Amino acid sequence: MSRYAVTNPATGQVEERFETFTDEQVAAAVDAADEAYRTWGRATTIEQRATLMRKAVASYRDQRQELATIINHEMGKTMDEALVEVEFSAEILEYYADHAAEFLADEPIDRAAAGTAFIRHLPIGPLVGVMPWNYPYYQVARFAGPNLMLGNTIILKHASLCPKSSAAMERIFLEAGFPKGAFVNVYATNEQIAKVIADPRVRGVSLTGSERAGKAIAQEAGAALKKVVCELGGNDAFIVMSTDDLDAAVEAGANARYENSGQICNGAKRFIIIDSLYDEFLKRFIKVSKERKLAPLCSASAADGLAAQVQAAIDDGAKAVLGGTEHDGAYYPATILTDIPAGSAARRTEFFGPVAQFYRVSSEDEAIAVANDSPYGLGSYVFTTDSEQGLRFADRLESGMTYINESGADSAELPFGGVKNSGFGREMGPLGIREFTNYKLVTEA
Ligand code: NDP
Repeated sequence: MSRYAVTNPATGQVEERFETFTDEQVAAAVDAADEAYRTWGRATTIEQRATLMRKAVASYRDQRQELATIINHEMGKTMDEALVEVEFSAEILEYYADHAAEFLADEPIDRAAAGTAFIRHLPIGPLVGVMPWNYPYYQVARFAGPNLMLGNTIILKHASLCPKSSAAMERIFLEAGFPKGAFVNVYATNEQIAKVIADPRVRGVSLTGSERAGKAIAQEAGAALKKVVCELGGNDAFIVMSTDDLDAAVEAGANARYENSGQICNGAKRFIIIDSLYDEFLKRFIKVSKERKLAPLCSASAADGLAAQVQAAIDDGAKAVLGGTEHDGAYYPATILTDIPAGSAARRTEFFGPVAQFYRVSSEDEAIAVANDSPYGLGSYVFTTDSEQGLRFADRLESGMTYINESGADSAELPFGGVKNSGFGREMGPLGIREFTNYKLVTEA
């Protein structure tokens, strides 16, 4: 039976099933992506592509209610969060439509010898996007926006939970006037995707998802000498050293923990609080957490998996000062763990749901040591009234992003990505259009 289905996490009901593609259908998608690359991606101007992209942006906005409803059913997020995601996706696509010409302008080189030289930015070919269910539109926009503007074409393998949102995006790009194959959705198995990655016409892969998927895809891409961008998990530290407004810091922390019911790669997951503020911050965080109304997780099995992680932490000696392992189907309560012993796997494991870990520290060095004691390095948050201290943290924290005195700063112009096991490469901002570029050197004597 096909894995591609809409199963509403709020009810557990399978609402719609989608057939997995045959090998012939997958091959036809690759043919179409290659054809579109040659006849459209390489043959059109940035302005021509921007015109199409702006039509797609208008459709995202016109159809926001319908698009939001789809992901509300597919993975359970609230309609409010779904509408915000649709708008953010439109903003990302629009950002690249507006800025691609500037980002892709020729770069002159001051040549030592006589003559001229410059770098021209050219596309490299069809790319595979393997995308996750937590932000079904946003994750795809980060990849598709810059690459379509560059002239690369996209073969999308979305999560099996997201067959309807992936089809909706394909339809929107087609209706906007992108040729068949510029953005093509496939309901493919992992084995079929491995063959697509190995196809010599396909020139790169971008994955957002788990470490497990990252290792599999990066190996397949490496074996075929293809560039790969990986945006994987995170276990972001939220550090509070000093603040003039503790309630605002608590609110920022709760927002960064409970957005999307905690299913967010750069969510605040480990709260590292200076001794003098720890008790009061925790007390207020518990109060705010109790007031949060959380949507279900993406599936009942995801909630069961989270409960098993929480139980393992408790077995190691951690205390659940709020919530715990009891949950109702896919609905999981806000949960706070304290006193997680050194050596417990919980300290180094990502909890992909509304579970916050708390650590008490007595100095800047200790805060940094606890924060860096992680295989992950996606984002990090620091609250301090001392801006010099904030910058010291930014230098010393092993992460791809440090947000000082704020959370929820994600925006189309700000690059996103991590170090260590959180992956490699960047999406969004000027860097997001540079990943799958042929930096063609052109000289003239
Ligand atoms: P996965 O990493 O399994 O799924 C992400 C995408 O990768 C899906 O499209 C999935 O397809 C695909 N995929 C997985 N393995 C392969 C493979 N070998 N070849 C081709 N495609 C593959 O995430 P899960 O849904 O299992 O979530 C588990 C964990 O992943 C979470 O707990 C979290 O840690 C992390 N995660 C991180 C995200 C982020 O934003 N960085 C987003 C989602 C998850 P399919 O659905 O068909 O299996």
